[in-house]
Amino acid sequence: MRIKALICNCKGLSPSFKNSDMNTLPFDLESDLDVDYAIVHPELCGMGGSRVMEDVLRSAVDDPDTLIVVGACEPEAQSKLFEKLFCKTGFNRDHFLPVDVRGARNEEIIERLGEKIGKRVQPIMRRH
Ligand code: SF4
Repeated sequence: MRIKALICNCKGLSPSFKNSDMNTLPFDLESDLDVDYAIVHPELCGMGGSRVMEDVLRSAVDDPDTLIVVGACEPEAQSKLFEKLFCKTGFNRDHFLPVDVRGARNEEIIERLGEKIGKRVQPIMRRH
């Protein structure tokens, strides 16, 4: 199973994301979790962010072994925000794992993503 992790920090303006360090988070995620890659975009539901999401979803449409995990706002809100892209790309919603990372520090974000992914894939934590 391949896992692509996308993180959004709501333009960096929301106090909900002030506890995390988005510059170090991708490396931390890639080091601690068995993900293909991790990226941060400041507005995944915005114009450019939606294009990034579309590209990532398209890259996984014909790959039943890829999961897309998104750490951002409330999961239900994410599902609504990205619904048009799921329809447009034909991406299997079952392979979309939205995680609420608001208020979390990097370690907590990694834990939340790891937990969510771990329910679908074992093992997820890298062994050092
Ligand atoms: S996806 Fe959620 S966290 Fe990201 S910019 Fe949109 S509303 Fe904010």
